[in-house]
Amino acid sequence: MTRSILVCGGAGYIGSHMVRLLQEAGHDVVVFDNLSQGHAEAVTGTTLVRGDLLNPEDLSALFDRHNFDAVIHFAALIAVGESVAAPDLYYRNNVCGTLNLLAAMKTAGVDRLVFSSTAAVFGNPLTELIDESHPLAPINPYGWSKRMMEQMLADMAAAYGLRSVSLRYFNAAGAHPGGEIGEAHDPETHLIPLVLLAALGLRDRLAIFGEDYDTRDGTCIRDYIHVLDLASAHLKALDYMEAHPGAHTFNLGNGRGFTTLEVIEAARRVTGREIPVEMATRRAGDAGILVADSARAKAVLGWEPRYADLETIIETAWRWHRAPKYGPFAEGR
Ligand code: UDP
Repeated sequence: MTRSILVCGGAGYIGSHMVRLLQEAGHDVVVFDNLSQGHAEAVTGTTLVRGDLLNPEDLSALFDRHNFDAVIHFAALIAVGESVAAPDLYYRNNVCGTLNLLAAMKTAGVDRLVFSSTAAVFGNPLTELIDESHPLAPINPYGWSKRMMEQMLADMAAAYGLRSVSLRYFNAAGAHPGGEIGEAHDPETHLIPLVLLAALGLRDRLAIFGEDYDTRDGTCIRDYIHVLDLASAHLKALDYMEAHPGAHTFNLGNGRGFTTLEVIEAARRVTGREIPVEMATRRAGDAGILVADSARAKAVLGWEPRYADLETIIETAWRWHRAPKYGPFAEGR
């Protein structure tokens, strides 16, 4: 079934991969993005509307012009450390922006939303693998902002029947194997792109944030999941909402954790390059270990990751980072 889908934040890293999958599946897509982090070059073959969730007029113009069956919402600020330093920025952008979007959807009668949530809603885990029943106890404003938005969706499902699926991403990584789109944040704060930039000599050395965590080598453990695997879960979520009213949540990861040092070793193997590192202090707001139990997404949504192997994930990112088509390291910049 062909649907008309609004992708908020569709010029960003995960959003642009989502747009590709939607296009391949034959859906009609409109991207809405303020281009604060996204790149217009990442959106091809569909309409890109430049606008901001913080401007209700931008949203009313958008919903006046197009009829949407559903919205997929990626547009948010995502840097944990920055959120600790500037919580007001995070609450305004993420929470107020989402409220504006929900108001515009309500006015237009659009009642289906797939929402980008995060493992940061859990805080420090109480169990080795985190499933959906794990308590929500964020330890940074970024995680709190996402937790608040999940709550808003649950309350609006009860109040007026908004249907939603919140997908809690663990660590998104990798790029489309075609090499046309990839991760290009400015500034970049994420581990895998930073490691690859160091391998390319585009950064002096990689600072490892903390070697005194209670893990096998003292560095943080994360569950890295390929960006296209995240995107494919959204397609499943769109179908799921048709038969299932209410607000639903699913955790998305590979179920396997790697330490920061293990990621760097894997990147050395993939790239064959030196990756200079230095030990640094812990980064504010970081949990020691975050690994997903995604059994529910597999059983209920029928989702299955295709790029589960860490080296494969890094390889796809490496292909992009060696020749990025846009972003701060694209040729000609
Ligand atoms: N990390 C690091 N050095 C960096 C960037 C990240 O040691 O320059 C670590 C960070 O402390 C965390 C992991 O790498 O344990 C993944 O961080 P990232 O920012 O990629 O994702 P997050 O887990 O914050 O969503």
